[in-house]
Amino acid sequence: MAELMTAVKKELERYDVVSVKEVALTVGRLTNLGAEQMEFAYEIMSKDSILEGSRLVIIEEEIEAECGQCGYKGPVKNMETEGDVHYNIPVLSCPECNGAVTITAGKTCCVRSIEIEEAD
Ligand SMILES: [Zn+2]
Repeated sequence: MAELMTAVKKELERYDVVSVKEVALTVGRLTNLGAEQMEFAYEIMSKDSILEGSRLVIIEEEIEAECGQCGYKGPVKNMETEGDVHYNIPVLSCPECNGAVTITAGKTCCVRSIEIEEAD
């Protein structure tokens, strides 16, 4: 989250920003970052900065994978999690052949868009 804030602020340095209205983040489902958690962290970290008072929008990204065996590309259906998801690594396998997959989407967190008000 702190890294994301740095990325947002860095991006804002390129513009003559009067105020920031909205910051949208893409958060992969595999990151295990809860929206509430992030909103809370955002509020704290945006204090006394240009981001103070702006709205945080979180867009969840589905998990997608690529199979090394049959070439399947797409969402992973059989995401088995037992117990608390925060402490278990989901078991991901190809829905077609059950082979090992490489995660191509859903494991990262990035800045999607920033809505600002620029000076004239
Ligand atoms: Zn496969």
